[in-house]
Amino acid sequence: MKNIEELVCPHVLKMRPYSSARSEYKGQATVFLDANENTLKTNYNRYPDPLQGKLKIKIGTLLDVAPNQIFLGNGSDEAIDLLLRIFCRAGEDQIITLPPTYGMYKVSADLNNVETVEVPLKDNFQPDVTAILAAQNARTKLLFICSPNNPTGNDIKLDLIEELIQKFDGIVVVDEAYIHFSMQRTCLDWLAIYPNLVVLQTFSKAWGMAGVRLGIAVSSPKIVGLFNKVKPPYNINALTQEFVLRELGTFNDFQKDVLAIKKERASLKKALLKLDLVKKIYPSSANFLLVKVPKANQIYQCLIEAGIVIRNRSTVLLCDNCLRISIGTATENKQIIDCLANFDFLSQKQKKIKIIE
Ligand SMILES: *Cc1c(COP(=O)(O)O)cnc(C)c1O
Repeated sequence: MKNIEELVCPHVLKMRPYSSARSEYKGQATVFLDANENTLKTNYNRYPDPLQGKLKIKIGTLLDVAPNQIFLGNGSDEAIDLLLRIFCRAGEDQIITLPPTYGMYKVSADLNNVETVEVPLKDNFQPDVTAILAAQNARTKLLFICSPNNPTGNDIKLDLIEELIQKFDGIVVVDEAYIHFSMQRTCLDWLAIYPNLVVLQTFSKAWGMAGVRLGIAVSSPKIVGLFNKVKPPYNINALTQEFVLRELGTFNDFQKDVLAIKKERASLKKALLKLDLVKKIYPSSANFLLVKVPKANQIYQCLIEAGIVIRNRSTVLLCDNCLRISIGTATENKQIIDCLANFDFLSQKQKKIKIIE
């Protein structure tokens, strides 16, 4: 395995980061006139803690990692973008993704002028380890593995992930956005063994805080140091830091929600399987179902007309005629089932005329 320093962009290693007065200052003070804030005001007039110390202590306890192993981003999307900027030289380096998978890896790579080498998952939606290792070269810096995978919903087998971490000559990013809905364990434990591992999690899905935009990258203190070096100084605002710290006190609610969503996932699956138009539902370890139907575009349109928005994934590799449906409330799930039950193949519209009250 290469050293982390060999993988980092030379200009990133060399640069000096922005240093705010607040992060340089270590002692005790009562008068802060260093940041041109409006001191007449009292609420949120101050810049937030640039390294989110309190929040990282709390998250560290929850994930059983040290605060200096945590980077917090404006969504995990910021972590993905910063990984590209830390490790990939524009116009030279490459990343590997395993489609069908989350779209942001490639979008972020495109934006950073970094080539994406796509090594499709096999028919069972598991990675083709041999093909991945054959696709890497001296300029391949990052490998993105999404587990449970979006949009297919399955777990990537842990032995395959571990083999890739061991044999891939760069940084392996395991995106665990949906890990809380899975029976498979997290890869966080491996951080102690593998210095080239980055695990992404997020507050947007099971935690129910997509609106606040907070994502987590957990890695070695060295890689976290690189994140801190390149991130915008105050990337996590004070409102988010406060709000999430407060919400993390209600861990019981979180566990209750996850159970309820998993239960609803089972009922939705059962109800969908009773419908003639459902050809197949893929096993899901996430809070959505990938459903194969005969005419995905028409069914998608029909749902839109009924005011129900789902994700049409039918143009995606290996997801021919597939729709991705997020698990909603019992009422929302009933609405989608009712609508699908009334889909008429001949007219490709709903059979029943909707009665407008
Ligand atoms: C939703 C999702 C995320 C979360 O992104 P945020 O920016 O944290 O909201 C990350 N990865 C995958 C695979 C996702 O589906």
